[in-house]
Amino acid sequence: MNKNLRKAIIAGNWKMNKTRPEAKELIEAIKPLAANAGCEVVVCVPFTNLETAVEAVKGTNIHVGAQNCHFEKSGAFTGEISADMLKEVGVEYVVLGHSERRQYFGETDETVNKRLKAALAAELKPIVCIGELLWERECGITEEVLGKQCKLDFYGLTADEMKKCVIAYEPVWAIGTGKTATADQAEEACAYIRSVIAKMFDSATADAVTVQYGGSMNAKNAAELLSKVNVDGGLIGGASLKAPDFGEIIKAASV
Ligand code: PEP
Repeated sequence: MNKNLRKAIIAGNWKMNKTRPEAKELIEAIKPLAANAGCEVVVCVPFTNLETAVEAVKGTNIHVGAQNCHFEKSGAFTGEISADMLKEVGVEYVVLGHSERRQYFGETDETVNKRLKAALAAELKPIVCIGELLWERECGITEEVLGKQCKLDFYGLTADEMKKCVIAYEPVWAIGTGKTATADQAEEACAYIRSVIAKMFDSATADAVTVQYGGSMNAKNAAELLSKVNVDGGLIGGASLKAPDFGEIIKAASV
């Protein structure tokens, strides 16, 4: 990452894991590992753990995120949670457009864009996930896919709003598979995403926006991935559920 321009963000995506007592236990274990972090540390927990997590991180440098929010303020949307509801319980971040939401729950770039605008209106910090499928990479259209997702997901934002967004570059083929993009592949994609943001907005916005890498990042490969100038941290699934591993990734982002 370029530390002169940006601060790394290490965010754990717990997905559908951990009961409330387990969530408290994991946060207690992360606390000492994050205490001297030179990066922002976020835990994105299931909805049922949000209050527990907000309470547990009080007085620490750990921030709490949710994993989705709806785009309407309220109404007949059974099973959904609004951005204002998240804000009310003290949540700061929200993951949007994760590939698992796109794959299993019909999330589209259009709904990601709507959710993003709702999150910004509620003053949440969005972590917007984009990334290509394996066959899209094999067909040589990674840049087209990333460009299209940026243009659609960030459509209609002001430069100031864009600066408040975190982009997580998550090649879908690397999520939960144990297959990590090489550091060079991650750098190339993150740099390309930044170039698209520069064209859509301006170079100051592109320099300011955080672009994380996500996809089987772990205690062993984090340092190399994070050494790349355009990789500003990570969105971490599996390895964020083990405090020692998450701690090693925080350490790698803090040097
Ligand atoms: C994720 O859930 O965003 C993710 C990157 O998962 P994993 O680290 O397990 O690949």
